[in-house]
Amino acid sequence: MMKKNFCLIFLTYLFFINYSEAQKIIQRDVSIEQMVKEVSTDSLKAYINKMVSFGTRSTLSSTTDKKRGIGAAREWVVQKFSDFAKNSGGRLTAFVDTTTLLADGRRIDANVNLGNAMATLKGTDPNDDRIYIISGHLDSRVSNVMNRTADAPGANDDGSGVAAVVECARIMSKHSFPATIIFLAVSGEEQGLLGATYLADKAKKNNWNIDAMLNNDIMGSNNSNETGIIDNTRVRIFSEAFSVQDTGRTALNIRSLGLENDGRARQLARYVKEVGERYVDNLEVVMIYRNDRFLRGGDHTPFVQKGYAAVRITEMNENYNHQHQDLRTEKGVIYGDLVEFMDFEYLRKNTAINLACLANLAKASSVPQEVKVDVRNLTNSTTLSWKAPNNGSAKGYYILMRETTSPIWQKKIFTSQTSTTMPYSKDNYFFAVQSVNESGNESLPVVPTVGR
Ligand SMILES: [Zn+2]
Repeated sequence: MMKKNFCLIFLTYLFFINYSEAQKIIQRDVSIEQMVKEVSTDSLKAYINKMVSFGTRSTLSSTTDKKRGIGAAREWVVQKFSDFAKNSGGRLTAFVDTTTLLADGRRIDANVNLGNAMATLKGTDPNDDRIYIISGHLDSRVSNVMNRTADAPGANDDGSGVAAVVECARIMSKHSFPATIIFLAVSGEEQGLLGATYLADKAKKNNWNIDAMLNNDIMGSNNSNETGIIDNTRVRIFSEAFSVQDTGRTALNIRSLGLENDGRARQLARYVKEVGERYVDNLEVVMIYRNDRFLRGGDHTPFVQKGYAAVRITEMNENYNHQHQDLRTEKGVIYGDLVEFMDFEYLRKNTAINLACLANLAKASSVPQEVKVDVRNLTNSTTLSWKAPNNGSAKGYYILMRETTSPIWQKKIFTSQTSTTMPYSKDNYFFAVQSVNESGNESLPVVPTVGR
């Protein structure tokens, strides 16, 4: 008996690797590494210069002028997507998804033809309905959000996010993924998240299986106005703790099991931190435990409100002199969202974390099914069980483990089985299970439900 126990413990320890060690041991997927290397500061700069050249991209500006306004801008985005589609083997389709918004007397003072520029990279597995979205907002603004004529360059807000979307589309459309990826440049963000709300409603109505949504808004500059902090080695990811959809029994579970830090958006944020830092050097992804910043909103929120895992990626230190400002100089201070304040190397890194995460998710098998923790007995160990994912083939699974007070997963344990017993008390740790395929791409984690 002694011997058997010893053996069990020994074997168990063989499988266990400390999380930070695991991060070093886990190899980068060569194809993702290659795609990350293709992210180009020159491309990003060219996209932003082009977007700025439309003068204003106010949602209320002209949709018919060929040179100036939101209409010309969205046509340009779709043209880029269409160019990329030529090298996609017929899998990338580009279009402007339009709707008419009636004047509401608030931030829409006349009927508006609202259009989201989109490209869909269809997944190669016909049975796999997972969708991953990367988004930025194409519209820009000056001090008065109703001003549709003044120059509103919007280089960073949100030329940076749209440039990231276009660059990911350029690189990723040459590759194939089992799951579907949507590249999205919405309109109407500054008028009240209108384009994102329109799409989130549509997604919910049509039962789209959106597994993750990455909203990129203001992520290409790095110096704050107040303190002069310059920091292009850190980027923030905002995530809500758990969804407003989590009511009734789910909410009871969250309270009784202490799962208030394990909602879908929070899990996605942890995933972006881990996978983003795996592929992008000299960049720390800083998790912020709230859905968004004070006094500001973002396009992930309509998706969060529909119960999807959606997060916001934003630079570390914002410069408010360069956001939502009329172009002007006062007492030697330049106001306005101009290209000259951009840091394209920082934007390259932030684009690359998006690409790495989207690629890793879209290549991975779907999540393991029926993940359960056995609570039949009082034990100082943990027994987990699960079933294979619905889509894709899993080489095995990662058990993720952390202390209840830890913000990030601390151990990552590989197993090829679909159950495991570990010498760690289920009372003292949080666990989750990911599926992992041959090339090492892991799914989002699934927190176990209480089962037998
Ligand atoms: Zn914005």
